[in-house]
Amino acid sequence: MIKRVDHIAIAVNSADDALSVFDSVFGLKADHIEELPDQGVKAATIRVGDTHIEFIEPTDPEGGVAKFIEKKGEGFHHICVEVDDIDAELKSLAARGVELIDKQARKGLAGRIGFLHPRATKGVLIELIQKV
Ligand code: ZN
Repeated sequence: MIKRVDHIAIAVNSADDALSVFDSVFGLKADHIEELPDQGVKAATIRVGDTHIEFIEPTDPEGGVAKFIEKKGEGFHHICVEVDDIDAELKSLAARGVELIDKQARKGLAGRIGFLHPRATKGVLIELIQKV
């Protein structure tokens, strides 16, 4: 079951630059910055109410986020929704024929995550997260 929007992710060339823009425009500060080498990104989050905006900066020029920016430029990348039981959700989606990028959950920034294919959801990349 979907509980809430956990974060909205924006692909950027520089997380530090994005943080300084959102600080100067909205006065919002980073609450978490982390390098995720296995995903080829540096991620920085800012809290907005009970959700977050997450900036993802490619650190691997061959990675998915680097290719996304190359093709589409900086901007909206994905919505992440929190679920109670990610294994059950992924299994249920697969059983209903929903196209998945991750058939098995994997480790993300703040929990176990899995992505649906944007073809399954009107061109919007959706991430599921089960918090740890
Ligand atoms: Zn995300």
